[in-house]
Amino acid sequence: MEVILQSFNLKTMENNPNGLNFHATTIETATKSLKSDLVQGLTPNQVKERIEQFGLNTITEAKTISAFQILVNQFKNPIVFLLLFAAAMSFWFKELLDGTAILVVIFINAAIGFYMEFKAQVSMLALKKMSAVPAKVLREGKLTEINAEEIVVGDIVFLDAGDLIPIDGKIVRSTQLLIDESALTGESVSIEKKMGVLPENTILGDRTNMVFKGTYVFKGNAYILVCSTGMQTELGKIASLVQTSDQAATPLEKKLDVFSKKLIKITVGLVVLIFFVGLLNGQHFMEMLETSIALAVAAIPEGLPIVVTMSLAQGMLKLARHNVIVKKLSAVETLGGTNVICTDKTGTLTQNKMEVVLIKTPSVNWQKDADFEGNEEQLKFITQGFILCNTANLEIANNETKEIGDPLEIALLKFAQLQGDDIDSIRTQFDKKDEIPFSSETKIMATLHEQDGLYVTIAKGALEELLPKCTHILEKDTVPMDKTKQDYWVKEADILAADGHRMIALAYRHEKAETTLSTENLVFIGLIGMIDPPRPEVKAAIDECKTAGIKVVMITGDHPTTAQYIGMQLGITEEGGDVMNGKDMNRYEDLTKADKQKWLNTSVFARVNPKHKLDLVRVFQEKGYIVGMTGDGVNDAPAIKKADIGIAMGQRGTQVAQEVSDMILKDDSFKSIVVAIRQGRVIIENIKKFVTFLLSCNLSELLVIAVAAVMNLHFQMLPLQILFINIITDVLPALALGVTKGGENVMETKPLKASIPIIDKNRWKLIFFYAIVMASVCTAGVLINHYLYHKNDAWDTAICNNILFFSLILCQLLHVFNMGTGSIFRSEVMRNKYVWYSILANIIIVFAALQIPFVRKALNIVPMNLNEWMVILLVSISFMVVVQLAKVFKLFKANK
Ligand code: ATP
Repeated sequence: MEVILQSFNLKTMENNPNGLNFHATTIETATKSLKSDLVQGLTPNQVKERIEQFGLNTITEAKTISAFQILVNQFKNPIVFLLLFAAAMSFWFKELLDGTAILVVIFINAAIGFYMEFKAQVSMLALKKMSAVPAKVLREGKLTEINAEEIVVGDIVFLDAGDLIPIDGKIVRSTQLLIDESALTGESVSIEKKMGVLPENTILGDRTNMVFKGTYVFKGNAYILVCSTGMQTELGKIASLVQTSDQAATPLEKKLDVFSKKLIKITVGLVVLIFFVGLLNGQHFMEMLETSIALAVAAIPEGLPIVVTMSLAQGMLKLARHNVIVKKLSAVETLGGTNVICTDKTGTLTQNKMEVVLIKTPSVNWQKDADFEGNEEQLKFITQGFILCNTANLEIANNETKEIGDPLEIALLKFAQLQGDDIDSIRTQFDKKDEIPFSSETKIMATLHEQDGLYVTIAKGALEELLPKCTHILEKDTVPMDKTKQDYWVKEADILAADGHRMIALAYRHEKAETTLSTENLVFIGLIGMIDPPRPEVKAAIDECKTAGIKVVMITGDHPTTAQYIGMQLGITEEGGDVMNGKDMNRYEDLTKADKQKWLNTSVFARVNPKHKLDLVRVFQEKGYIVGMTGDGVNDAPAIKKADIGIAMGQRGTQVAQEVSDMILKDDSFKSIVVAIRQGRVIIENIKKFVTFLLSCNLSELLVIAVAAVMNLHFQMLPLQILFINIITDVLPALALGVTKGGENVMETKPLKASIPIIDKNRWKLIFFYAIVMASVCTAGVLINHYLYHKNDAWDTAICNNILFFSLILCQLLHVFNMGTGSIFRSEVMRNKYVWYSILANIIIVFAALQIPFVRKALNIVPMNLNEWMVILLVSISFMVVVQLAKVFKLFKANK
């Protein structure tokens, strides 16, 4: 940031490809020099040429590693060096078969590593494409939405409040434009910008007739003539000075990386120990060396971090299919631990399809489906107010009405239309002179209109905000407002809101002469009630959160009583439950301990503004909560950013909200948040599953070999056998576990604490238990076979070895099913078809190994009789029985 700041202020002259200083030229000159047209924009041909000439509008080309590079990277790995060393030694001692087999293993390993890394990269690229920023440009006379990367010099771009500015350009038309340039200049106050010509030597920070890439529109809107794109923009020029970082590793990846490194050290220590014990026990040097290397290769989980990346990336892609764009890999992880969701009401919990169902004024009482009572003329006046103090539009195209704008305002227009008003003609009749846009801070919108030299102000908004601004009230005539009347209307709004109506108040003022727009001294007209039903899918999602130990908090700008009604309907709060009103919420700095506790115990916050949202996130985080916070407006950005999971709305959300968020809901629905949390939990569960599986399998091999070496038994595993087991069990079953759908109880347990490591003490105990049981039954199998059938014969080393080899394979394949939760027969792993495919594939590989002479020889496979095969089967079944019994008796806490 420092660097950006300095260079932005230091540069006094702007260099652009055309050599023009656009801030010092007129709009006409600039447009002409860029061969553009303010009305028509550019033609497709011009766009094509310019993209070819200047490239896409991107700052740095996304750094992608080529497939070849990924392949090469697979060989730059200590494991490969170890194997190469083993192969070299084999060739040196003229063990050609072993040497060749090890080379084959190296290639298979590289192929697997390549596949996983390549797939992870493809997924990441696909995700990147999904979060592309759209932009509105004028092309062939029409405002068209395109990907911001495709904007070219000379384009006319339309920018609205909340939009990120994708280019550097000159303002050619603007309304109340306020730009936040803090990302570039560090200046937190928004700057007013407008058309104009400035002196040549105006410094960048003062060029108020230009907008710059990387900043955003805080308020108002504008048409911009694009002067530079991509690396030619001011941000682009600075970008080369600023170190761009790759996507940071997620905490989980980091944890696993540290963990893998630790494990490597321990394994190497153990392997060295086994090597020397073997030597002391009289084993051959070469044999022990190869065994040790094979063991090291088998036991070191060097691929763990990439498997985790792949699983997270796959999870993100899956979520994208469920309308959730997760922008950072780390978010998937955080989702698993989220224990509070603070959600907006309108549009997220409700459908945002509003309808006017009642109008109440001193002389009008209109209710949907009821006879109209009151003054027709006043109703007409009210509906005109709906049309005028309104930014929405109903466009008719191809016999279909297209609704553009805020759903509340659309509802008002539709009502006026139903009453027979012609929107266009009323808007032409009363020319709009000025507008104070609605904001969730002021909760009021106002417009000023003129008709034949007469002026009228119309205002609408939340009753609590509008009523204090009304000095009069429209009864039969306009009479002064007094305390009794005020109290009456506050109470009336409360009664109507109790039925879940979303309320707004309407007011006006006839002006005596031309004036500037203000919202003081208004005449109160009355109340309008709307319904906005809850989304049908939300109740079940909230129930799911409850069983999952996740607190749901509703934060809304709406009336407290309306909020409570909706909250009750959805099960967020109960009858009589506390609703906190924004006006009773102190600033964060002034909060006492008791205040904070009260906030923590409240589920519905009403009449809240975006600043309250930020404070609420702070209070929750202080207590150690992992907070998800939704938002859509520019002002919500700080709260979204501060939350552990910032959630922006895909449909209603501004680009700024989306930019700072971790996750975007394409359908704006609360349900999608819960889907994402569930997926986050499933992914973490799956990662735990395959790490447990891999480590217990590896450890069992270590134990078997260590026991045989230390006890100087008559049999031992051979190096190539270890590598073979490693390849078949480590890869396919582990990958299949990574895509398990998630147990039935994923959303029935408390959220995971971020501080707890993936492999905690309990899980380590479990891993050792699995490994010890597996190693014991396999070794026991060999001994049983010998003492049962060949008690008086000499030890048949080859048969012993084969029993050990196949017992380990079968045990490990069946072991996959121990990774499920609940009953083994109904567990999620049993239901995972990929697990079955992987087992089938492994069985085929084993059979193929038995059939191919070269492989058979390399693996030292000898023919076995039925009894021996039965021993192998028995060994594996007893392994499963012991583990399952331990699960039934809940011997281990981490038995998931
Ligand atoms: P949420 O934060 O759940 O989306 P909300 O949409 O109800 O809540 P706001 O949009 O801030 O919150 O609205 C707050 C209040 O402002 C509403 O209850 C209504 O009275 C009033 N209001 C909303 N939209 C408009 C509008 N376009 N014009 C005038 N008043 C409005």
